[in-house]
Amino acid sequence: MAPHDGKSVMEEFMASETEKRPISTIVIIIAMQTEALPLVNKFQLSEDPNPTFPKGVPWVRYHGIYKDLNINIIWLGNDSVFGVNSVGTVSASLVTYASIQVLKPDLIINAGTAGGFKAKGACIGDVFLASDIAFHDRRIPIPVFDLYGVGLQQAFSTPNLLKELSLKVGKLSTGDSLDMSPEDEASIIANDATIKDMEGAAIAYVVDLLEVPAIFIKAVTDIVDGDKPTVVEFRQNLAAVTAELDQAVTQVVDFINGKSLSEL
Ligand code: SAH
Repeated sequence: MAPHDGKSVMEEFMASETEKRPISTIVIIIAMQTEALPLVNKFQLSEDPNPTFPKGVPWVRYHGIYKDLNINIIWLGNDSVFGVNSVGTVSASLVTYASIQVLKPDLIINAGTAGGFKAKGACIGDVFLASDIAFHDRRIPIPVFDLYGVGLQQAFSTPNLLKELSLKVGKLSTGDSLDMSPEDEASIIANDATIKDMEGAAIAYVVDLLEVPAIFIKAVTDIVDGDKPTVVEFRQNLAAVTAELDQAVTQVVDFINGKSLSEL
């Protein structure tokens, strides 16, 4: 086949056929157990005792059939040394890579909580669909490396889903810290971000490499530019905001059911 934009004609044909057939397998990547379990119950998924992941990883796969969809929720699991949820970019990118290899999803959804900026219109409990995703803690002040560090990616475009559901749209900025240093703040402002998390851009990097469409649904647990300490506000709001997140993810999954990628 003659190459065309780096892809063969056959590859382009296959990609356009995938866009037209109904979505069948989705992978929902979730960092924390508190965020994952209500959705596991909602979709009546069961834990896979033998997920085809490498031995020793803490990742947990819940799966089942919901309506016409084969749904997989992959929770990052508890760190084997410290016992806490293995949040952050390193485990998020590994899980994304492994889940795509093993489960070959048509679509990835990264669902989770995030900090929001009130100066950009975010309020506690808001649920955002991220339009763009970038890093704010990979500062490499050398031409071109600086852009590589920011790693800007766009989420899969879902105009019909946005028309149908009342989700806010905003840019997401990712870093490996829950707090925000002045340097991070400057990068977040440069990224024009409304929300801040610890996994999104890592997942966006992997799905771009492996050419899998992905969307990012983030519910605001804490206001970063407010007066309350992030950890206190995050813990106070986690349970209530998770309920908002789960409701939004359910609406998105219900919307996706029976549709092709090009109908989103
Ligand atoms: N479970 C811990 C905190 C987990 S870290 C505790 O109980 O304190 C926070 C998680 O929520 C990460 O997965 C991250 O993606 C998201 N998150 C929520 N608010 C955030 C913020 N302000 N900054 C960065 N990540 C945030």
